[in-house]
Amino acid sequence: MDTSTIAAIATPGGRGGIGIVKLSGPKAVLIATKLFFPAESKPTAISCKAQKPDETSHNGFQSHRLYYGHIIDPGKFQKVDEVLLSVMKAPRSYTREDVVEINAHGGPVALNAILKLALRHGARLAEPGEFTQRAFLNGRIDLTQAEAVIDIISAKSDKALQMAAALVGGELQVHVEHIREFLIEFLTLLEAAIDFPEDIDEIIDPQKYILEIEKHVIKPLRDLIQQSVDGNILRDGLKVAVVGRPNVGKSSLLNQLVCKERAIVTPVPGTTRDVIDEALNIKGYPVVFSDTAGLHKTDDPIESIGIKKTNEHVRNTDLVLFMVEDNCALTPDDYAIFDKLHPKPFIIVINKIDLVNGSNSVELPTSWSKNDCVRISALYNRGIDQLKEQIIQTAFGNKPIDVEAAIIPNLRQKLLFEETLESTEIVCRELDKNTPIELIAIHLQEAIGSLGRIVGATAGVDVLDQIFSRFCIGK
Ligand code: GDP
Repeated sequence: MDTSTIAAIATPGGRGGIGIVKLSGPKAVLIATKLFFPAESKPTAISCKAQKPDETSHNGFQSHRLYYGHIIDPGKFQKVDEVLLSVMKAPRSYTREDVVEINAHGGPVALNAILKLALRHGARLAEPGEFTQRAFLNGRIDLTQAEAVIDIISAKSDKALQMAAALVGGELQVHVEHIREFLIEFLTLLEAAIDFPEDIDEIIDPQKYILEIEKHVIKPLRDLIQQSVDGNILRDGLKVAVVGRPNVGKSSLLNQLVCKERAIVTPVPGTTRDVIDEALNIKGYPVVFSDTAGLHKTDDPIESIGIKKTNEHVRNTDLVLFMVEDNCALTPDDYAIFDKLHPKPFIIVINKIDLVNGSNSVELPTSWSKNDCVRISALYNRGIDQLKEQIIQTAFGNKPIDVEAAIIPNLRQKLLFEETLESTEIVCRELDKNTPIELIAIHLQEAIGSLGRIVGATAGVDVLDQIFSRFCIGK
């Protein structure tokens, strides 16, 4: 176990009203004593020398109190900044170690000066996520809660934040532990059956256990895996691509959605040659829109590259907005795009409704009528709210997931749930075939191991490093 004291600037770079330097570890309070002078004591050469910190006590600081004073450079007897300092004594702190937070003015020079002083007096610079890693290693949180902390920091929408906040409370851990306890109990039974083979029929009734495993393990695992699919969209944003032939109004729609001139709009076909992304928040859901190069037959080599990129991009999106024009008949390019999109979920967006008076509207073939369809004018902001509604409905259905109630695993957790499910299904199959108990126990141990890696009980150092390196320094 690392017993060093770590320090970092915990607030984002740049200027702000307040900035925080955070320390955690056995020397945190000692360092604070050397650098902090309460408002009533005058920092003179004598008082600095007289301030002989005591390594064992908390030097008069009470836990969970705020102290007003100054950070002084003890070498130069110079005030560095006016601060509020708090001490959170172990174990009642974020890391379960002694933690000191120095609330200074939020300029980079002052914060760096305080950090440098802390480093000079015995701390070392914290690695990204090291405060949270210590909270995990000291048993204050499990791995799912640590991951939720980073999701809160990087939440792109209200829904993503709600989802992460639910996991910080440790609800996923509770679910995992229930399933794990059940499997461990069953493993104990199997081991008893291995030790007392003559009593095996009394100890284990395979058919009864298959039903129990279905109920207590397989069903909850399937639910969690299903929820993680929706969760990824909430976390990273629903990827929506706007496609259509050149000049139908794709860039105009993107501009209307984001209310600014992000994509270049011109009457010249083929202007958008690269994919342009914009993140939006629709009804609390994060949605990443991309404008793409117009799709049509062309000999222009640069445009062809754009079209190739569009096709690749569309493959990776969750939903497509297929745009056609209301003021002219469908062209062979429109039909070709429709055929190419077909397996993807898409909404047909009929644009430029301002140019028609109803009777000369574009006619769509009946085979297209299975798709949702919205009529808009991107230029004159008509039908845009209906389009937003339709996007959420097509993507999430009539009953969007209740993020406040749902427990939504991330990709790492989902893969481990899938591993657990696979091993547990093998256990059931082998029970049904009356396979020797020793072999069944091996698959059961694998299932228990995968679950353990979700909460961190059996996670390797490499996994931990990978998770905590996603954090910023200071968290
Ligand atoms: P893109 O090539 O599909 O991205 O099309 P643009 O957004 O660049 O638009 C092409 C032309 O159509 C521009 O002159 C736009 O002003 C015009 N346009 C786009 N949407 C509408 C609309 O709803 N109504 C009308 N009248 N013109 C539009």
